Amino acid sequence: MMPNISKIPNLPQGPHTPTHAVAHAELGLSRRSWLGLAGAAAAGVALSPAHASRAHTIAHTIAQPAPDTSDLQGAGFYRTRLGEFDLFLISDGAFLISDASAILASNAQPADYDAALRRAFLKPDAIMGQVNALLIRTPDAVVLIDTGCGELFGPSTGKLLPNLARAGFKPSEIDAVVLTHAHPDHHGGLLNGATAAALTNARFFASRIEHDFWTGPAPDFSRSLLPRESIDQMIQGANAAFATVKPRLDLIADKDQIAPGINAMLLGGHTPGHLGLRIASGSEELLYVSDLIINAPLGMAHPEWHVAFDLDPAEGSRVRRATLERIASDRARIAGSHLPFPALGHVRAQDRAFEFVPSSWTW
Ligand SMILES: [Zn+2]
Repeated sequence: MMPNISKIPNLPQGPHTPTHAVAHAELGLSRRSWLGLAGAAAAGVALSPAHASRAHTIAHTIAQPAPDTSDLQGAGFYRTRLGEFDLFLISDGAFLISDASAILASNAQPADYDAALRRAFLKPDAIMGQVNALLIRTPDAVVLIDTGCGELFGPSTGKLLPNLARAGFKPSEIDAVVLTHAHPDHHGGLLNGATAAALTNARFFASRIEHDFWTGPAPDFSRSLLPRESIDQMIQGANAAFATVKPRLDLIADKDQIAPGINAMLLGGHTPGHLGLRIASGSEELLYVSDLIINAPLGMAHPEWHVAFDLDPAEGSRVRRATLERIASDRARIAGSHLPFPALGHVRAQDRAFEFVPSSWTW
């Protein structure tokens, strides 16, 4: 996913645009706010139109004060084992997805969208985007997958570091940071100077395809549903994040090893170099599917629905279905950036659709 989209004039009308317009009016926000203010909106913060128009810029959001950590939810992390490895699912927080129908299901029929929401007990104006990271402690290395939103999404996110601390980790203990792709909810932590500086001993890994796409002279967004202004902000943010870690950045390819037992798994679809991870220890394996699924009940029930965050929504749908089919038939265990916390589970195939089966919290 990505934040800071201020206008969506080119976005296809979702099934419930009129309803969302009302919801925005109630919040005192316009469509200009969209995701840039999602966190603030979710936190119930009233923002004037003047603030709304300013807050969407990356420069502005970087200047926001550090996230308030007094409202950390529960433990904020979930620890489990995979063979010899310790896994820590770390919550970075969650934000409200405004205009969710246009973002998550731009080509859905209204009746189908209604039915999917009803089946999942979701309210159309209260669909949250969860943001998770994964820390893996192996006998060889401590590896962190993604860096959360930093300060880009407002105070309801950006909780990665405090939750890492609660899990018992200092940033200086992290040996490797994998950036699954160059969207701000994954590299946002690096745009916060304090976070980047705290990762004193880490090397950074990103897909060469991803790096070359964003840093190239003219990244091709011709199939994107997002407006040009938003695209430009994304490109600026991605380049800033790569520049921040450039001296310590390793560009990798499909199947490359980050540490023993942790290998890149090129997913594509969402972005050109969108990486998952194959994590294996002993006889156990976990697939980290990153942004294959943005909203579990909607994306798995309707992988054919176009997601505006996907660079090429049709290609995103194709990859989503093909990957879910493979995961379901392999009975693979998965974790993901936006799956419901603690973001671990399996995928069950049902006719032409899928269902997320969360792992039970194990004490
Ligand atoms: Zn994301």
